[in-house]
Amino acid sequence: MNAIPEHEAKAWIGGFGVAVPRGATARTPAELEAAAGGLTPPLVVKAYGPGLVHKSDAGAVRLNVGSPGAAAAEMLGALAAQGIEPAGFLVEEQAEPGVEMIVGAVRDPVFGPVLLAGLGGVWTEALHDTALRLLPVTEADARAMLDELRGKALLDGLRGRPPVDKDALVKLLLAVGSAVESLGEGFGEFELNPVICGPSGVIAVDARRIDA
Ligand code: ADP
Ligand code: MG
Repeated sequence: MNAIPEHEAKAWIGGFGVAVPRGATARTPAELEAAAGGLTPPLVVKAYGPGLVHKSDAGAVRLNVGSPGAAAAEMLGALAAQGIEPAGFLVEEQAEPGVEMIVGAVRDPVFGPVLLAGLGGVWTEALHDTALRLLPVTEADARAMLDELRGKALLDGLRGRPPVDKDALVKLLLAVGSAVESLGEGFGEFELNPVICGPSGVIAVDARRIDA
């Protein structure tokens, strides 16, 4: 099983029409500061590399960053104290808050690749509110997946919030399905967690791809 770095997984899924934040990578804090030049704040800085699977748990994600170089330098120190040496840093634009979803796929040993959509982003494991479908899925299947979520009212706009862009979310589900199928036997695991869903679009701010 071979894990692909986050920015490469994002570039790959971006090629299937999934929106991802604009970003850049660098090996050192100073290079990161320079690489962030064309990006619009607020920014997010993340460290990546082997040993950084759940980045927030290790303190490897910083939101609302003004100076990416300074944030990366601080992160380097905090990671070194845990014995982690990152392979590099990712700086990217920070998406507006919205409803956080998980969209992914796993390989069932008998049936093959299964598409997953769930509510909750980082809280997915506590909420147990997910829908599953064998691939390939049609547009009707993707819509039905969203309809069977217990918390689907969150997508329709609760307490005066605008409804999320469901058409964009359905398109994203179909894109993830096609992307996973394109990997064939090479597919191991794929996860976008979270996809941040707003009234005019959805954006995948984390991507994890592990090839078989
Ligand atoms: P991990 O899941 O490895 O801990 P993430 O990349 O998912 O790390 O980042 C942790 C959290 O930070 C996300 O769940 C999301 O809420 C927030 N986040 C990460 N990147 C962005 C971004 N570009 N824009 C807005 N929020 C982000
Ligand atoms: Mg994540």
